[in-house]
Amino acid sequence: MPAPTTSPDGALVLFSGGQDSATCLAWALERFQRVETLGFDYGQRHRVELDCRAAVIDGMRALKPEWAARLDEDHMIDLAALGQISETSLTRDSEIAMQESGLPNTFVPGRNLIFLTFAGALAYRRGLRRIVTGVCETDYSGYPDCRDDTIKALQVALSLGMDRRVVLETPLMWIDKAATWKLTESIGGQPLVDLILEESHSCYLGDRSQRHTWGYGCGGCPACDLRANGYHTYRQALA
Ligand code: ZN
Repeated sequence: MPAPTTSPDGALVLFSGGQDSATCLAWALERFQRVETLGFDYGQRHRVELDCRAAVIDGMRALKPEWAARLDEDHMIDLAALGQISETSLTRDSEIAMQESGLPNTFVPGRNLIFLTFAGALAYRRGLRRIVTGVCETDYSGYPDCRDDTIKALQVALSLGMDRRVVLETPLMWIDKAATWKLTESIGGQPLVDLILEESHSCYLGDRSQRHTWGYGCGGCPACDLRANGYHTYRQALA
């Protein structure tokens, strides 16, 4: 696949240290002249993902000189208040299960609305027009604040509320986990696949003691299931 033409726009990538946001970071580095990254610390149980961020960023810098030149500041925002107002398995030590609503109890209501609003304020201050997020309507456990309509509505709200055009980019919105690996491969080949496999983190329980073919994780939580299934599907399609 030919490299896309780079845009002079700057981009802020919501980067948690997970597989999806790591893919979005590489996607943005191919397209935008200046790329900054943003992580949130909200007392998540899988805080280990925050420790993975630096390794992924360093790895990307090492992969391509033009990516190293485009990578600018990394930001971390403390959102401890989000942990205080949410009663969920992502921030509490309780078992991960499906609820009557059809959503897993890892659902933090409005989390992405809060993330993107903070990202909008930061992007404004840093003069970055694009905000890139790895939300996905296809297989992301049905979280309503990851849906395309929610993101489009928020793009309008942020643009009006800050009186400046903000573009929310969602490169993973319509693809599943197997296609996300394919996208990774098309952007950076096997070295990028290896980097994301090894250094990104998805497991809700924050387990990095076990290395599977698809990366590290407990192997039993919904995030591990999703990541494992996606990777196996991707590999089978290659065989
Ligand atoms: Zn897990």
